[in-house]
Amino acid sequence: MSVLNAKYNKITTANVTPFRPRLNHLRSGDFGVSPLQNELTQLLAQMQDAKVLVDRDGKVLSVNLAAAALLGDSCEAFPGGYWQAWLPAPFDAEYQSMMVRRDGVVMPHQHGPREIMLKQVCGGSLPVFLSVSCIGELFVLSLQDLSEQKRALAQMSLLASTDPLTGLANRRTFDEALQSHWQECMADGLPISTLIIDVDYFKSFNDMHGHIQGDKCLKRIARIIAGELPNHQSLAARYGGEEFALILPDCSESQAREVAERIRARVRALEFGLYGLPVETMVSVSQGIATEQGDNFPTPVAMLCCADTALYRSKKEGRDRITSCPC
Ligand code: GH3
Ligand code: MG
Ligand code: MG
Repeated sequence: MSVLNAKYNKITTANVTPFRPRLNHLRSGDFGVSPLQNELTQLLAQMQDAKVLVDRDGKVLSVNLAAAALLGDSCEAFPGGYWQAWLPAPFDAEYQSMMVRRDGVVMPHQHGPREIMLKQVCGGSLPVFLSVSCIGELFVLSLQDLSEQKRALAQMSLLASTDPLTGLANRRTFDEALQSHWQECMADGLPISTLIIDVDYFKSFNDMHGHIQGDKCLKRIARIIAGELPNHQSLAARYGGEEFALILPDCSESQAREVAERIRARVRALEFGLYGLPVETMVSVSQGIATEQGDNFPTPVAMLCCADTALYRSKKEGRDRITSCPC
């Protein structure tokens, strides 16, 4: 009968066909290896997912192939060391011992999957789910590589936050960022400006040159806008259709106006001859600025509404111009 089955009644080897323990001749202390350690090492070696066997001090007894691959060396490289060395702070301290005191009772520090960073031999770090199971006097660590899921999640959140045509932030990201930047600037006593930009007569541009050219034009304008952000906290978004919006933290009204003027001039200077359109083709943008400095607006939304009113004034007064709030 399996040592595990008989002594700990936790694992049965009945359905692990390739594994035939022939270890009954081993006594605890033979070669310094207990029958339990021997049997677990062989069992874990059969497993496809990453497993590490450690003693109650955290000393590594065996590492299976999948775990060695995650850590970045051969199975033989790890036994004898302490697995806590694979953990960055503060986790290393938490796992200093595999036994913990809870409510005055010392018990095994075991748990289900929890996310943790693992230091690799190459110096990199790997996000993993770590589970710790106590079997007899030993502990099995189960590691599940999360890097692929993390990459997919990052890709998905990028897609969810970005406008696919222009690559700028989308409106949802803009709305969230406006709230957080507003709070930060208010807390730090800094000004914050917002800029709304609308392409002039864009329906006519589409009607005259087609939607494909219209899309190309929006992309070129977006590139100009992104290139004029004054600091790395600033954010440019496609607010909708042919409308863009900027958040300019730590930017006074006059600094925001300088940004707006550079955008206005560069859009006006766009040439379309190379794009197969008549050389005289041109576009312009109208803009509205609102700045919170002091106590102008009760909320970021109020500031944004005021910028929109200023944009409307720019349209009314002839387009290709910039109006600041209050107007
Ligand atoms: P105004 O100067 O008053 O802003 O005039 P406008 O023609 O720009 O405004 P209007 O709201 O009448 O039309 C906006 C146009 O923008 C109509 C729509 O087809 C175009 N548009 C919106 N989104 C896109 C897009 O993603 N691609 C293209 N090609 N056109 C778009
Ligand atoms: Mg327009
Ligand atoms: Mg519009």
